[in-house]
Amino acid sequence: MAETRITGGCQCGAVRFALTQQPDNPHICHCRMCQKAFGSFFAPLTGVPLDRFEVTRGTLSTFKSSDLVERGFCRDCGTPLSFHFVGGNRISLAIGSLDEPEKFAPAIQVGNEARLSWFDTLPGLPGRDTTSEQDDPEGTARIAATNHQHPDHDTAKWPPAGKAG
Ligand SMILES: [Zn+2]
Ligand SMILES: [Zn+2]
Repeated sequence: MAETRITGGCQCGAVRFALTQQPDNPHICHCRMCQKAFGSFFAPLTGVPLDRFEVTRGTLSTFKSSDLVERGFCRDCGTPLSFHFVGGNRISLAIGSLDEPEKFAPAIQVGNEARLSWFDTLPGLPGRDTTSEQDDPEGTARIAATNHQHPDHDTAKWPPAGKAG
């Protein structure tokens, strides 16, 4: 059987990591500290034992949001990446930073005391896809031509030659 290897990383690609076992406890945390750390409505996290996590490129920078918790991120692009209880033997990774986030549906939500009152209305909002060619062909082409986001798979070299960030 092939070794489990789930990869992910930050937006700019300076930090890449791998999990060598299926993560568990996929969840979202609405607590105010997670909202702030992610600049979002909640933190989407799933975890593995610390020895099943490896940084494969760059360095995970950390911020201690309290004496108990260390939050990892990319110092170059700011992507929030991890959550770790200091001294604990697990680490949780931001589901959106995984290369295949679709596979890690949250099973529970916690930190509900800070859940934003309109959170439940989000799926009902009117919507559309990312700005389409028809709306702004020039803008769409320029974004595609100048995209600095690391692709959703490991790369031998990043950024590619002639495309420095
Ligand atoms: Zn980065
Ligand atoms: Zn939280």
